[in-house]
Amino acid sequence: MDRESTAGKILEFLLENEGRDILQSDLWKELGLSSKDVSKILKKLEEEGLIKREPVVYKGRKTYKIMVLSDSLLNSDKIGVTRSVGRYLMRKLVNEALDIPCLSCPYISKCYEGGFYDPVNCQFLNEWILRNMRDRKQGASLPAQL
Ligand code: SF4
Repeated sequence: MDRESTAGKILEFLLENEGRDILQSDLWKELGLSSKDVSKILKKLEEEGLIKREPVVYKGRKTYKIMVLSDSLLNSDKIGVTRSVGRYLMRKLVNEALDIPCLSCPYISKCYEGGFYDPVNCQFLNEWILRNMRDRKQGASLPAQL
């Protein structure tokens, strides 16, 4: 795997786990990469202002807690970074779309505006929309900026 693909894999993992404490000493194991490669790439990503590393001691050993800097990622014009962010956002949007209650609703074939089953008055759909709006407002920083 070349440097750009490895960096992309790391960035996508960090975005998907945003808000979780990710330690450098665990990251390479979780991704099945070499410790040395991950260390070099994280250092470079930090120099580029895409992530932040905070020194911590875990189980008696020095390591770093890694935080992804979402705003810098979104504003980056580096092709590799843009691709990683794009793939992450696409996966997130697809997962959100697959979660819509209509996809598993037994009444979908009888549901239309003005009908007995009506999307305008549907409790399941309205709850889903409200839940998604609430989630976006609270901290789902990247999708909220779409
Ligand atoms: S709007 Fe409600 S009733 Fe209609 S298909 Fe979606 S979940 Fe089912």
